[in-house]
Amino acid sequence: MSNADPPPTWPPPRGHQPHRVAYVFAVVLPLLVVLALLVPFAVAYGLGRWQAADRAAGAPPSVVATEGAPGVGDPYFPDYGSSGYDVYKYTISIDWDTRSQRMTSTTVISAHSTQTLQAFYFDLALKTDRVRVNGQQALFEHTGFQDVKVTPAAPIAANTDFEVVVDYSGAPGAVKRGQVSAWHTTNQEWTVAGEPESSAWWFPANDHPSDPALMDVSVRVPAGMEVISVGRLESRDTAAERDHDTWHWMSRQPLATYLNFISIGQFQLEQGVAQGRPFVYAVSEQFSPEQRIQLLTELRRSGAIVQTLEKMFGPYPFTELGGVVPAAKLWFAGLETQTRPVYEGGAMLNRDFAPELIAHELAHMWFGDNVTVRQWNDIFTNEAYASWAQWGYTERSGGRSAEEAFTSTFADTEHKPNFWRVTMIDPGKDHLFETVYARGPMTLQALRNVIGDRAFFRLAQEWSQDPGSRSLEDWMIKAQSTTKIDLTSFFQAWIFSPTAPRRTAENGFR
Ligand SMILES: [Zn+2]
Repeated sequence: MSNADPPPTWPPPRGHQPHRVAYVFAVVLPLLVVLALLVPFAVAYGLGRWQAADRAAGAPPSVVATEGAPGVGDPYFPDYGSSGYDVYKYTISIDWDTRSQRMTSTTVISAHSTQTLQAFYFDLALKTDRVRVNGQQALFEHTGFQDVKVTPAAPIAANTDFEVVVDYSGAPGAVKRGQVSAWHTTNQEWTVAGEPESSAWWFPANDHPSDPALMDVSVRVPAGMEVISVGRLESRDTAAERDHDTWHWMSRQPLATYLNFISIGQFQLEQGVAQGRPFVYAVSEQFSPEQRIQLLTELRRSGAIVQTLEKMFGPYPFTELGGVVPAAKLWFAGLETQTRPVYEGGAMLNRDFAPELIAHELAHMWFGDNVTVRQWNDIFTNEAYASWAQWGYTERSGGRSAEEAFTSTFADTEHKPNFWRVTMIDPGKDHLFETVYARGPMTLQALRNVIGDRAFFRLAQEWSQDPGSRSLEDWMIKAQSTTKIDLTSFFQAWIFSPTAPRRTAENGFR
């Protein structure tokens, strides 16, 4: 939920300092070694990130301490998120009109200010009708695609909890950023899901993955219709109306705004408990009965796949499990919406691909969901691991080894300069979801070859079991801390370089 990890304390608190000689060996020398290792990357990192920031040329976070900025300063998406506060919970109540395909909604944003706020922003592309801050009517103004500036009746003091109640309405199907929409309609079925943004289509938010929060989602629909979302199904009809049902879902753990979703329509549900975890699988009734049987059979693999992933990455980080297959032709095969990925029907009906796809999306529960990106240019820490998990899952299931997958993927790409031009440190906004799916897992398998299985899986576990929002630089520092081998040139070759790594042992080739 917080944007920042606490800074390391130096020197260590009194009473914790070891004996002086031991202290030099235990603390000072390793620190010098780490610093020596980090200097080359600090330079390279600076170059990559400064270039990215130059290109983005958007609104930097406000330096004026009395107003939040309309963005958190993401180099690729400067208008995403809003500065000056952290959200800890969204309580979303939607009334969905199936005929007009419009929603009338209220969302309560429970937040904590990180500075004095005479004004602040949230992100919403639908029409804002009314805003109250701590119970008092506030002024508001919509600017750009999704920024809404709020001026409360009284300024919010720094470091205090506050509550924003937003009434809003509109037809999400009419909302597009350029040609892109996160709202997918198929006959009388609607799904909102998308990366790197989707919340602006259905709830007001601090829409950036660096600010995960708890989600409480209620959707009122005509009786007999289903609504699927994240977390636990609390109730199918809280209001007990005759003609309408209200579906109520609640997350037990915080999630990034783009990891929340809803699907509304006619769905076949399967509910139960597997290994102590409640699960809900759902498939659209627009699929044929045979297809539904096949899709549910694939979804039922989720529990066993999670067990395989746990052997590599440690305990599954959440308390619920699931998956949903809407009828929509999505522009992605799957999205790692927290506890319940959204899968594309065509991809899931491909018997050869479905198990790996599920392994990919469920691996994101560790990488991408429990640990979110600090900025969108950190996408490597999500997609490299989720893609490597496909290799690792296949290896553990008795199929092709991850090393074989690495060897053949490298042979396919080695002589394609355009592939390597997209670096991992700064892939660029337009190439975020491209080469990382192949260069990412190759980097990890090569790292596994260099540092060995023990360090490789310790790194994966220590990284993914510590919830928070962290950067690729944080990951490289963590990786270096797991081994005595100097990884400077390894990272140069795999993370920073715009050309293919040379086939050397130092670069992880066997
Ligand atoms: Zn992915």
